[in-house]
Amino acid sequence: MKNYDLIVVGGCASGIAAAINAKRIYPGMKIAVIEKNPRPGKKLLATGNGKCNLTNLFAPEHDYVGKGFASFAMQSYNPERVVEFFEGLGLICYSDSCGRVYPESNTAASVVDSLRFETDRLNIDVICDTAVTEIKKNGGGFTVNGEYGCKKIILAVGGKASPSQGSDGSGYELAKKLGHSLVKPVPALVPLCGSAEITRTMKGMRARDVVLTLRGDKILGKTQGEILFTDYGLSGIAAMELAAPAQKYIDSVKRNPFTYIDFMPRMTYDDIVEYLQNLSNIKGFCNMDNFLTGFLPKAVGIAICKAANLYKADKRIDELTAEEIKRIAAKIKNFPLEITGTRGFSNAQVTSGGIKTDEIDPETMQSKKCSGLYFAGEIIDVDGGCGGFNLQWAWASGMLAGELKD
Ligand SMILES: Cc1cc2nc3c(=O)[nH]c(=O)nc-3n(C[C@H](O)[C@H](O)[C@H](O)COP(=O)(O)OP(=O)(O)OC[C@H]3O[C@@H](n4cnc5c(N)ncnc54)[C@H](O)[C@@H]3O)c2cc1C
Repeated sequence: MKNYDLIVVGGCASGIAAAINAKRIYPGMKIAVIEKNPRPGKKLLATGNGKCNLTNLFAPEHDYVGKGFASFAMQSYNPERVVEFFEGLGLICYSDSCGRVYPESNTAASVVDSLRFETDRLNIDVICDTAVTEIKKNGGGFTVNGEYGCKKIILAVGGKASPSQGSDGSGYELAKKLGHSLVKPVPALVPLCGSAEITRTMKGMRARDVVLTLRGDKILGKTQGEILFTDYGLSGIAAMELAAPAQKYIDSVKRNPFTYIDFMPRMTYDDIVEYLQNLSNIKGFCNMDNFLTGFLPKAVGIAICKAANLYKADKRIDELTAEEIKRIAAKIKNFPLEITGTRGFSNAQVTSGGIKTDEIDPETMQSKKCSGLYFAGEIIDVDGGCGGFNLQWAWASGMLAGELKD
């Protein structure tokens, strides 16, 4: 049996942050990180389209699921402190106008490398190619896979999103055996499936700045930004951010929600009616295919006219009545799409759900069910939107767990 003071299970964002912070606070401690992949940090390499959007300066105001629970960690290790941590490793960062922070190199590999150099410098054992399948509490400590012993243990194995990068949900089983329970995990930040016969006709078309409202029995979510029509449904950040509430609604009431697209949030319904009336005077001789081409991609314009039950390829624009123009304007402001599900965990960036937050002390990340056990990162029922918010949570919760406070 190889013995450590601390074992961190999971060698990606939250686990490495936890191990580094623990070793800096307790330099005499013998610490190991156990990672199932051949190298640590595999998922980090894929983040931010390979650029790694490592935090967001507006994270303190962000509407996280689990915000109340997360707030102590987020205040203790706020985005400025995270940037300081990385700059202390020699990684220069920059932020954009939305507060998104990236490494100056624009390469996720430099984030992984700087973490790796620090674990080497601190003599943290990083044991790779080792999946943890069993954690047993014995007396004052733990045994891991019957091979390693430790006094304290941090579970930082992620959720179920993007399992090809290592996080396959195995952490939930390990935690359950130590007395924990789960909020059912669902895929988050993943494209939406639904109404394919409608979206397929618009496949490849982007709408730059739409407002999406997800409705079931009530409003389930609202986002603004870019969407991309695909042959299965909707992609783009504004759509992906509605995936978790859509899936949770489908799971709980067994009915599909609808998303309503406002293609022109900067104009009121009345402004659009007026604009279309003018347009019908200018372009009256054209057929309907080209009615909306002035402000939307042609295929989207045709789909809107179809949704208003008005589309006829050879109908001239000046044949539209005032009432028909109003129907088209209404669909521009409120275009309905039924959502039947999501593209699943294999395409998801994040998991929503996980270890129940009321079973963890928010000021230490220690389990309330099993002393000496701590949690960090996505395994916990906390998640945020696109833009660096999820990595911010991973670093903050990892560093707090690494304080190993009782
Ligand atoms: C494609 C993609 C792009 C993303 N881009 C961004 C972004 O730009 N900004 C942002 O904020 N967030 C982004 N995210 C989300 C972010 O990467 C995660 O929220 C974050 O990595 C979670 O960190 P974690 O350490 O909790 O879990 P993970 O990063 O999932 O790490 C868990 C680690 O544990 C290991 N492991 C799992 N089970 C075991 C086991 N049984 N034994 C041993 N090891 C195990 C895994 O191999 C993995 O290395 C992105 C995610 C994806 C998939």
